[in-house]
Amino acid sequence: MTAEPSPDSLSLPLELSLPLELADFRPGSVWLAGAGPGDPGLLTLLALQGLRQADVIVHDALVGERIMALASPSARLEFAGKRGGRPSAHQDDITNRLIELAREGHRVLRLKGGDPFVFGRGGEEAQALAEQGIPFRIIPGITAGIAGPAYAGIPATHRTANQAVILATGHSCAGGPDWKALAATGAPLILYMAWKGLPGIAAALMEGGLPADTPVGVVTDATTERQRVLVTALGTCVADLEASGLEPPAIIVIGEVVRLRPVLEWLPKEAPHG
Ligand code: SAH
Repeated sequence: MTAEPSPDSLSLPLELSLPLELADFRPGSVWLAGAGPGDPGLLTLLALQGLRQADVIVHDALVGERIMALASPSARLEFAGKRGGRPSAHQDDITNRLIELAREGHRVLRLKGGDPFVFGRGGEEAQALAEQGIPFRIIPGITAGIAGPAYAGIPATHRTANQAVILATGHSCAGGPDWKALAATGAPLILYMAWKGLPGIAAALMEGGLPADTPVGVVTDATTERQRVLVTALGTCVADLEASGLEPPAIIVIGEVVRLRPVLEWLPKEAPHG
């Protein structure tokens, strides 16, 4: 890739100067923010303000280096990551740490991948802050389940294809969704954390009535410079994924909307962006 100037090479002032008033980041408060799926261009202005103004940033594994590079140089960075279902930091420890940092009077940015309230346990963290009387703000982020398919030319809804869409987790920790019931809706499924469970999920969806030729789109490292896309079908997706050499994190889309990709694909294959 040539060293062309990317939008990231714009130099950002530490304090954002925008012709609008953003929220006040008060000492002793926590901003629970989504960092979006990877591409720094998909950060919200509020998340960027948080990165520039926070005293401490407690971030997840899914928040990439290019986004962390936007943090104020004086901010202390604390990693609180989890990956592949194996907690490397216990949820209680993370919430306790947020409470402790806020009580010390810091402006605390809790930065999560995608959206904090979409399979991100942001609700639990906010609940703990509320119980302790810590002021907090929720900053929604662009969720990987919407942005990943969009960066692969797959719309979540398309007027002639679907009137509903289902976001579901493939992680079976809390029992997992009723796949047969979801299949019966006929709505496209957008799956998070479904890599490991895909054999069982695909089988259950077919038992629930989805045809084996239902198109499946797998988007790994969505919206980052490493993004890869595999288009396959429900009946063959497990074998195809195994043979593909792709690796998680992945968003898996199952449904007719995947067929729009050949027309709507817009991201250059060679040097995606950035
Ligand atoms: N709160 C996040 C989701 C966290 S759950 C959001 O709103 O996006 C973690 C799962 O999200 C991963 O297992 C994967 O399925 C998905 N995911 C997150 N970022 C991703 C990315 N850049 N590319 C593909 N999948 C991603």
